[in-house]
Amino acid sequence: MGPIGFTWDSKNYSCSYDALFTILYNIWIQTPRDFYTRIAMRNSFMTHLEDLFRDMRDNHISPEDARNIIRPSIHNYNPDYFPWGKKGVNMVHLSELFFKIRAKIIAYKYFRCTSCSSNYTETIDSFLFVQLHQFEGTSTQKWCNFLTNNNPSSQICNNCNQNMMAYMEFSRLPALLALDVYAQNTSISHKLSVKIWDEPKTLRLAGIIYLGKGHFTARIVDKNKEVWWHDGMTTQNKCKNEGNLQNITPQKLKNLKGRKACLVVYEACTK
Ligand SMILES: [Zn+2]
Repeated sequence: MGPIGFTWDSKNYSCSYDALFTILYNIWIQTPRDFYTRIAMRNSFMTHLEDLFRDMRDNHISPEDARNIIRPSIHNYNPDYFPWGKKGVNMVHLSELFFKIRAKIIAYKYFRCTSCSSNYTETIDSFLFVQLHQFEGTSTQKWCNFLTNNNPSSQICNNCNQNMMAYMEFSRLPALLALDVYAQNTSISHKLSVKIWDEPKTLRLAGIIYLGKGHFTARIVDKNKEVWWHDGMTTQNKCKNEGNLQNITPQKLKNLKGRKACLVVYEACTK
């Protein structure tokens, strides 16, 4: 039958919500156990969404009901970013709401000046990472390596005005990683390998959001590595099968029917 998708609302444009929620629902439905502790904890939007996902699974509400129930609270949170009517939404703004885990440390970023060795540490409380122009990304794995290896940062030393070096270390294996790749021409690696306290760990590709012609669509990768595409305007509540991930190259995943990848979601591999 394939994954469930969200049907587009032509009155109050909903494609950004449809694309993100289709990916999140299909992550949730495959492993609903412990979702709250792994992902939703301390994020009221994700907690609310999980409650609605449960109602969807039990056939109490349709996907569109779920979306329409949560949209007013998103709109009220920031009416300029999340308008009603025939207006679009910035995917970074929307995904930030769901991927920022307040008061939980996802990673540490260590800055050090190479000339005077002045240093400081920043904490990161978001599963969402936005690509910077300083890195000409060739693949999401290479970008991840760039973040976790010691590299020149855009921060200037307060002491001597030199560029500081920086590297990031995850506090533990993140349940999700959302990578904003729109600014760069980045191939989408089938999996991400990260070192957590020197131990190699893997995150699997779970979904990709595409943007083009003022409309968001999505690809879903299920646990059997079957790839599906969704467009709330055309496939509506269904997703269409595209075959197995191993037959679709990272290069090919950059685009979907004339649209460009903007957000890539990886999920920690669970046993
Ligand atoms: Zn310095």
